[in-house]
Amino acid sequence: MTGLSVRDLVVRYEGPGRGWTTAVDRVDLDVADGEVLALLGPSGSGKSSLLRAVAGLEPPAAGSVTWSGRDVTSVPVHRRGFGLMFQDGQLFPHRSVAGNVAYGLVMAEVPRAERGRRVELLLETVGLAGYGSRAVSTLSGGQAQRVALARALAPAPQLLLLDEPLSALDRGLREHLTGELHDVLRSTGTTALYVTHDHDEAFTVADRVAVMVDGRLAQVDSPGRLWHAP
Ligand code: ADP
Ligand code: ADP
Repeated sequence: MTGLSVRDLVVRYEGPGRGWTTAVDRVDLDVADGEVLALLGPSGSGKSSLLRAVAGLEPPAAGSVTWSGRDVTSVPVHRRGFGLMFQDGQLFPHRSVAGNVAYGLVMAEVPRAERGRRVELLLETVGLAGYGSRAVSTLSGGQAQRVALARALAPAPQLLLLDEPLSALDRGLREHLTGELHDVLRSTGTTALYVTHDHDEAFTVADRVAVMVDGRLAQVDSPGRLWHAP
């Protein structure tokens, strides 16, 4: 079995007072190898909870998540081969740009010389060739997001999980980087789950869009077909 497979998944949180919130309500979802799927929906619809459960960071109340046929919770975190990218809290401020990108490679014990080559290639991929020795504090918001993307891609993750990766940026930059992200994901053949509340972003970046409403998937289709939906 290949790809990502989510079956009958339920994620619940215990409320501060009485009762429980059902954030993800019996979701079924398949993502093929190399496919980019956007999870689109309003705030509070359960997108992050679903992503976190896929990452193995949120234990499901029911159902299962399998990647390449294996239950994600049965594989130790560092061996899952997943890359994560979130909206904020991204870069290590005391490290250089290269040091940030190299982080996952150091963890994976990639030899120093190869690390250097891969860091350079990744910086080129995200349009930051020559920025390796810059301090992170000197970067613009867009440059910092590119470094975060390069860092997430560095260990060549089989599955990249992105949670509103661009939403801290202004509209123009977001549009620009969404297009670049699309190209990078295609050229690296990365399977990705991309959480966003922004239609344009979802439609630009994804092969298929899953619309989430109140913890359930209301519709899953290609951008073209969703666009023409009544
Ligand atoms: P989205 O990513 O679409 O904004 P979330 O998955 O963050 O949605 O939230 C779905 C629901 O679960 C919301 O009602 C939210 O308040 C609730 N929720 C999310 N995280 C927690 C948590 N750690 N504890 C309690 N409730 C949570
Ligand atoms: P740290 O922030 O941990 O000190 P370094 O800046 O020493 O990290 O770099 C970490 C990794 O990035 C090393 O493996 C090194 O080979 C590589 N590297 C360092 N500087 C550059 C650069 N200017 N361009 C490309 N790769 C670099």
